Amino acid sequence: MRPFSYVREEQESKAEQSGRIEGASFIAGGTGLVDLMRLGVEAPATVVDITGLSWTKVEQSDGGGLRIGAMVRNSDLAYHERVQKDYAVLSEALLSGASAQVRNMATVGGNLLQRTRCSYFRDPAVTACNKREPGSGCAALKGYTRMHAILGGSNHCIAVHPSDMCVALLALDAEIETTTRKLPISELHLEPGKRPDRENVLESGELIRSVLLPRSSAGRKGAYVKARDRASFAFALASAAVVLDLDGARIRDVRIAFGGIATRPWRSREAEHVLRGEKLSDARFGEAAENALKGARPRAGNEFKVELAKRVLVRALQRAGGMA
Ligand code: SF4
Repeated sequence: MRPFSYVREEQESKAEQSGRIEGASFIAGGTGLVDLMRLGVEAPATVVDITGLSWTKVEQSDGGGLRIGAMVRNSDLAYHERVQKDYAVLSEALLSGASAQVRNMATVGGNLLQRTRCSYFRDPAVTACNKREPGSGCAALKGYTRMHAILGGSNHCIAVHPSDMCVALLALDAEIETTTRKLPISELHLEPGKRPDRENVLESGELIRSVLLPRSSAGRKGAYVKARDRASFAFALASAAVVLDLDGARIRDVRIAFGGIATRPWRSREAEHVLRGEKLSDARFGEAAENALKGARPRAGNEFKVELAKRVLVRALQRAGGMA
């Protein structure tokens, strides 16, 4: 690990200021950054500790939804009474990620910005990685692609976004409040295109302050289903978060998001379109899954993800609809 300066900030404006120093990185739970510093993938000149900021509450928002502070720990959020009752899909997604120890440390803000688990990215001995070193190439394109994306990739990067929480937040239509603006979570993460090193729209020094969840309603049901190589502490091969707004057995509204198969948390409006206004049925679920994966571009080694993602989505719809 290379030497670095350390500064702790307890005021928002000072944290923003320190975050704008050349080569600075913010640290909260440290479950992402410290790993990457140890591996030699990240080497910030200054580490700005923001654990003293006061964004640690989960509280009701003005509209009757929830405001979740960026510094709330993943475990605290997963077991929060209101989250378990009204936003169970979020609780399920959080508890399917990492381990209890990591969840106890990791923060909501850090989870939103966690970096890919692409093994080539995490190994500095591999020289071809456009995300780590722009213009150097991409070792994954002709390499081992089992964990890589089939949606949203480019000829410059096919790394998967690793978060479970973000998939649920996308299906919940969450908004992100930063120190300078508010934006839908669907606009936070970027596809790699020609610049895989740019992963989100945040500017230098800009901090995520909170996540806003819209008010929940009586007929709303959700489910998160994750397929992975082992039962715990493993990243998704494919996952799906579903939020159904039901009127009896009819789907008034639906939101669907995928994880583990795309370069960013992936909303599937194609699948939603098939289901909106329809009755709950396996036939419709299957049709929705076909539509969702129409644009998939698998590589040699991850073709299986197309079928896996379809099955994961059908299972999530069945569970949310009370059919499984
Ligand atoms: Fe790097 Fe992306 Fe290629 Fe992985 S997929 S080696 S992160 S450029």
